[in-house]
Amino acid sequence: MRPTGRLHLGNYLGALQNWVRLQDSCENLHMVADWHALTTDYEHVDQIAPNTFEMVTDWLAAGIDPEKSPVFIQSHVKEHAELHLLFSMLITTSRLERNPAVKEQVRDLHLEETVSYGHLGYPVLMAADILLYKANLVPVGEDQVPHVEITREMARKFNSLYGPVFPVPEAKLTQFARAPGLDARRMSKSLDNAVLLSDSPEAIASKMRTAYTDPKKIRVNDPGNPDGCVVFAYHRAFNAANATRIEADCRAGRLGCVADKRDLAAVLAEELRPIRERRSELEAHPERVREALRMGDERARAIAQATMREVREAMKLA
Ligand code: AMP
Repeated sequence: MRPTGRLHLGNYLGALQNWVRLQDSCENLHMVADWHALTTDYEHVDQIAPNTFEMVTDWLAAGIDPEKSPVFIQSHVKEHAELHLLFSMLITTSRLERNPAVKEQVRDLHLEETVSYGHLGYPVLMAADILLYKANLVPVGEDQVPHVEITREMARKFNSLYGPVFPVPEAKLTQFARAPGLDARRMSKSLDNAVLLSDSPEAIASKMRTAYTDPKKIRVNDPGNPDGCVVFAYHRAFNAANATRIEADCRAGRLGCVADKRDLAAVLAEELRPIRERRSELEAHPERVREALRMGDERARAIAQATMREVREAMKLA
């Protein structure tokens, strides 16, 4: 994850919750992609360190166990840069220009004339981030699938040229690729439509009052349509046991939006309570977050160095 500071429910449902669950069945590594942050934010470097700290605090608060699953900072493991450089020789610029995810970002950020060499090549850095650890699975949202495809092509190309060093990894799609924000667009900090994992119950309740619901349901007893209703999407994610009843009540006009929002705010506040509590403990002991990162950097570095020894040997650079 790029260091964006405190995380929101979209980050949680689309990525973090899945990471926590996968800890029991997989060996995971979690990277703060600080070099990737420079693709768009190279002018605002002051925020990278504090944003890293806030984000990793949320990771640990949400249940990432740093003993089991190393958490580390990309720029602290210089091997990412070396492998990126070697990989950059194995891909054409036209292949990178065709990548739909980068194309979309360039269009959204109006970078047609000014996209940097590093920005265009960030999927190559991502391939290095993944293959350095010989990952088999990459838990991502749908938007990232084109990057995993480039990673697979890179692994195959490297292996066919220099010998079998890398597995060909697969994308493991998350269930909630598009958690809606309060305004029903994709939840995102930059759109100012996010509920943060660390929001207080009061903040959750006040944000929920602004959430988008069925615009055709005007009076309390009007029958509503939960499809596309933000409040209902979060009932489904955090209040699954009651979702069927809530849907039926809404459709039958037995449930008004004000009460529904109030109920959801209470459910969210309760569901997120363990995360908030662990977070305030970590805030009182910031050295725990720093120690998790120090330990993670060290473990990631050891794996990365071993892979790079193989890579240099295969490419006769040893
Ligand atoms: P970002 O900060 O946008 O790079 O997001 C970090 C992670 O959270 C990525 O795995 C994203 O796919 C995921 N994510 C961000 N926003 C959402 C959202 N609204 N719904 C689902 N997943 C999201």
